[in-house]
Amino acid sequence: MRIGILGGGQLAMMMIEMSSKNNKLDFLVVDPGENPPASKFIKCIKSEYNNRTSLDLLIKECDVVTIDFENVPAGALKYIEQHIPVYPNSKAVEICQDRLFEKNLFVQNQIKTTNFEAIESEEDLIKAIDKIGTNSILKSRTLGYDGKNQIEINNQSPKKVWKSCGEVKSILENKINFSTELSLIGVRTISGETFFYPLVENYHKNGILNVSVAPYEDIKLQKDAETIHNKITNELKYVGVLVIEFFLDENRQLIANEMAPRVHNSGHWTISGANISQFEAHILAIANMKIKPISINNNSAMLNILSKMPNKDIIEKNGPLQFYDYGKSERKNRKLGHLTITNPDRSALMDKVKKISKIIFQ
Ligand code: ATP
Ligand code: MG
Repeated sequence: MRIGILGGGQLAMMMIEMSSKNNKLDFLVVDPGENPPASKFIKCIKSEYNNRTSLDLLIKECDVVTIDFENVPAGALKYIEQHIPVYPNSKAVEICQDRLFEKNLFVQNQIKTTNFEAIESEEDLIKAIDKIGTNSILKSRTLGYDGKNQIEINNQSPKKVWKSCGEVKSILENKINFSTELSLIGVRTISGETFFYPLVENYHKNGILNVSVAPYEDIKLQKDAETIHNKITNELKYVGVLVIEFFLDENRQLIANEMAPRVHNSGHWTISGANISQFEAHILAIANMKIKPISINNNSAMLNILSKMPNKDIIEKNGPLQFYDYGKSERKNRKLGHLTITNPDRSALMDKVKKISKIIFQ
């Protein structure tokens, strides 16, 4: 079976690598960039995502198509879908591309989320601030990642904020005084069976994921998060890995923040911390192959490497740890790789995270 992937970033790279022992599968990747991370394992077709010739090639050569990046034009997915399956489907991806659609889906399914208002003008923003308050954030509806395209209101004038956001369609939402952030990684098969990883606790720095720790053990929250995930995937007839990010508020309630229709940075620990990684789980689901029940064998922590690659000798000296280099050039706040450490004792693991962060990243 051949799987087409739109996007050849580190997520595609790890999907291919983690499936390499499965000799029934091979891959075809389309990416507009020069030597994207996935080209470490296979030759990638350099092309824009909506290039008709490339899409026709995927249709001709592949049995199913998936994505490593949610901002692939929905039109491209819809075109492929007329011929071969696209998992997750174009509708699901389209919803995840737009924060307003995503929030509306949460509301329609009685899932708690932030208070929000749709903003298309300075007048809308003024009215929304009156309703929600100044302890709020303006987020562009599309193309936001790593905290980009978000402005905290505080004491800024609506006029200034509306100008500095580039006057693009946005939402205003209240700021949550969260006790922590959690994410749930789950996978749904073609027949509608679901498998879940334990909740992951996420620590961000400047809006960018810094450290993920798993498992976050809480039976009730795990059950609540799985119920929410099931509602969404049933509604969207979703196939593959879907990740939902939550705030845990002061009352220990889950507040849905956003979703990713793909494998996720907060799931990289599953490569060494679970019997089956999120990458393999996604590929098995979309290839309609059997998935074993998911189990974890340790406490895991994943640390993102941003902006600058640390000295590799220092990384090695501080092992044992798993080091991933995505082979990308250095750029401020770019995700260049990650480290995963595991330990049966959670507090020993957290001590090690602190120590490693100090030694390797300072
Ligand atoms: P990602 O890289 O996960 O795609 P993103 O840019 O799409 O991120 P969000 O997940 O909405 O954006 O925000 C990034 C981070 O900023 C959150 O994980 C959280 O730490 C903080 N944040 C965002 N919205 C809120 C909020 N309403 N209240 C409090 N903190 C928030
Ligand atoms: Mg996020």
